[in-house]
Amino acid sequence: MSFEEYKNLWVFVETEENEVKPVGYELLNPGRELADKMGAKLVAVVIGGKVEDIAKKAIEYGADEAILVEGDEYFNYTTDAYSIAMKTLVDKHKPSAILIGATNNGRDLGPKMACDLNTGLTADCTGLDYDVEAGNMVWTRPAFGGNLMAMILCPDNRPQLGTVRPGVFKKPELVEGREGTITREDIHVAADQIRTKLIKRIEEVAEAVNLEEAEIIVSGGRGVGSAENFKILQDLADVIGGTVSCSRAVVDNGWLPKELQVGQTGKTVRPNVYFAIGISGAIQHTAGMEESDIIVAINKDETAPIFDVADYGIVGDLNKIVPK
Ligand code: FAD
Repeated sequence: MSFEEYKNLWVFVETEENEVKPVGYELLNPGRELADKMGAKLVAVVIGGKVEDIAKKAIEYGADEAILVEGDEYFNYTTDAYSIAMKTLVDKHKPSAILIGATNNGRDLGPKMACDLNTGLTADCTGLDYDVEAGNMVWTRPAFGGNLMAMILCPDNRPQLGTVRPGVFKKPELVEGREGTITREDIHVAADQIRTKLIKRIEEVAEAVNLEEAEIIVSGGRGVGSAENFKILQDLADVIGGTVSCSRAVVDNGWLPKELQVGQTGKTVRPNVYFAIGISGAIQHTAGMEESDIIVAINKDETAPIFDVADYGIVGDLNKIVPK
């Protein structure tokens, strides 16, 4: 297979009900660097109901160009409408690689596209690079329970697809008024080609509290001791304008819902301040929070590994320290 005609790096900028999912803009940050390394254009692909303003903003966030597909059938995500639109776009424009946010919808779209396009997908990447000599994307993601980082290549097929979790990269600097071409593609998917219907939207805790966007996070672990005792963490969060989250041990104990879990199999967060309270600091937990600007750890065990990633550490009983 000759890859010569496959050019440019695409970032899928997801929208839902005409609102952007921030991960799309975040991906323009590594996207810019990768596209420059590839000697390619960075193209934002924006699909939605009425989303031209989002395409314009993608250019202000650093995309050279945007491809815009609008239609009522894209107002809410469906696997069929979005994957048909993406396949049509890919067949026409032939991008070399596509970055997709690992949101619920992105995790659905990525694999469907990989099947439709007969190519490979690396899911949940935490690092992205481009091997100039070989002409391949180098996708990095945790493997074997987070104990090693695997570098994954897709040398035999194009486009190369990867999903990246929200919060792994920071949004790039917005340059107001930055200009670029917006190409409108008139793609419509007939109702009978869409096999699912959105009947009702139920807002989950995950959507109600957006951990990835929180500036202060008060996170508790098994050391908090019980569901009831999370009240002292909530009180602290209320006083400082924070959001409560937790480790997996807390979810496994049924003290808080899975949507609030931080870590390798939970959310990746990078708040200004992250309080790790009664959390030991297992690698699978720190993988989801170590990029926080300031980490404050409270733990009664001074040898707990969480102190290795913490900027400030308090050794002592959380039941005495947190209320203070
Ligand atoms: P523990 O390790 O039990 O630590 C509790 C801590 O609380 C201890 O350090 C203790 O000293 C301290 N403590 C106890 N009482 C007090 C007190 N009164 N005052 C102060 N400190 C106190 N974990 C995640 O968090 N997120 C993930 O996404 C995740 N994904 C995983 C994926 C895989 C494939 C695997 C194998 C594991 C994963 N884990 C994940 C689990 C992870 O390995 C740890 O088991 C988990 O993070 C431990 O949670 P913890 O720190 O709350 O509990």
